[in-house]
Amino acid sequence: MKPLIGVTSDIDQNGDTLVQTRYIQAVRQAGGVPVVLPVGLEATEEVCERLDGLLLIGGEDIDPYLYGEEPHRQLGKVLPERDESELALINTMAVQDKAVFGICRGYQLINVAFGGTIYQDMYAQLSEDLLQHHQLTDLDFAFHSIDMVGDSKLAEWAGTSEVRVNSLHHQAVKEVQAPLVVTAVAKDGVIEAIESTAHRFVVGVQWHPEAMVKRGDRLSLKLFEQFIEAASGKR
Ligand code: MN
Repeated sequence: MKPLIGVTSDIDQNGDTLVQTRYIQAVRQAGGVPVVLPVGLEATEEVCERLDGLLLIGGEDIDPYLYGEEPHRQLGKVLPERDESELALINTMAVQDKAVFGICRGYQLINVAFGGTIYQDMYAQLSEDLLQHHQLTDLDFAFHSIDMVGDSKLAEWAGTSEVRVNSLHHQAVKEVQAPLVVTAVAKDGVIEAIESTAHRFVVGVQWHPEAMVKRGDRLSLKLFEQFIEAASGKR
């Protein structure tokens, strides 16, 4: 039986559920069955019992209140209701040791769920001299390089110490708490990937692999394949 993958969603300006097809397609391509989870999901524990994996998609900034900070003036739009639903999903799936894959905002939210913090605006709070992480080029294309850090699943899947990824973010992971570890950094030191050393599969990446699978990017495909494999209960 193919693994059932919960895929988070956004809310558009009319209050309607917004699903981004490229995430759905990437899950399908890797052999999973996607089911869309609305913001404000009820019965989280029961839903998670049925799911084999959770994919957290990109989107708005994360409410800094969740990691104990007041809003910086460069903070973008936050959606507290979405933060709340998704944090409950991450925590419930992690307790059940089910596969959790976070992309961009989803990756940052995994970090917050495990007690980590975020740069609300990395250009203002980390350095003005950072590389550009907000590409105007289509996300199908790689934009900046990242270096693998230490022994990690990500490094194993990459099979090389450096890869190129796309980039569309102004927030970044700041402090990381165990059992999460940093697995990749950009050339300017911005943290670009994390994973758990204590779970079957809790992995987050700052870039958008769902946009790069279309052109056959090797690591992007591998990330989705490994996620689906972990969700199927295989190692
Ligand atoms: Mn980046």
